Amino acid sequence: MFDALCPVYDWYEDPALSETPRRFASMILELTTGESVEWTTFESDADEMVIVRDIAFVALCEHHVVPFIGHTHIGYIPTGRILGLSKFARGVRSIAKGLWTQEELAKTIATKIDDELSPLGVGVVMEAEHLCMTIRGVQAPGTKTITSSMLGVFADHSRQARSEFLSLIRER
Ligand SMILES: [Zn+2]
Repeated sequence: MFDALCPVYDWYEDPALSETPRRFASMILELTTGESVEWTTFESDADEMVIVRDIAFVALCEHHVVPFIGHTHIGYIPTGRILGLSKFARGVRSIAKGLWTQEELAKTIATKIDDELSPLGVGVVMEAEHLCMTIRGVQAPGTKTITSSMLGVFADHSRQARSEFLSLIRER
């Protein structure tokens, strides 16, 4: 199979490339190993929506093992406990390390926040460019994929929380 893909170039005997397979393997390991994050929460009587926007992340698409790169926006409404703001960025970056579909990644992040904080509701919106769509396949550069996961009051389409969150992350 591999010989069929590389019929002429004996790349593994080129000294300049001899370390490339090792570097590649170590890069894949790095991109699939999240740092450990302490989800330390604090008691608080804050009860208004908290939004952490534009958290940069990179993940690997589970179908093609190429990156999808973008931003995550999180909103939640606390009920007695809050999380240090930097933990949202650390948490997203850590969970994103691995092989994912963007749909499942958004859901996993929302569920983790829901488990740790038991908020009134939590919303996670992710927007990313998938290299498997821009450098190969349909080759549609600039295409953004947007996924979301809404729990608690955010999941209720008739309630204010969802539309407030969505309009706040769009304001620039
Ligand atoms: Zn893909």
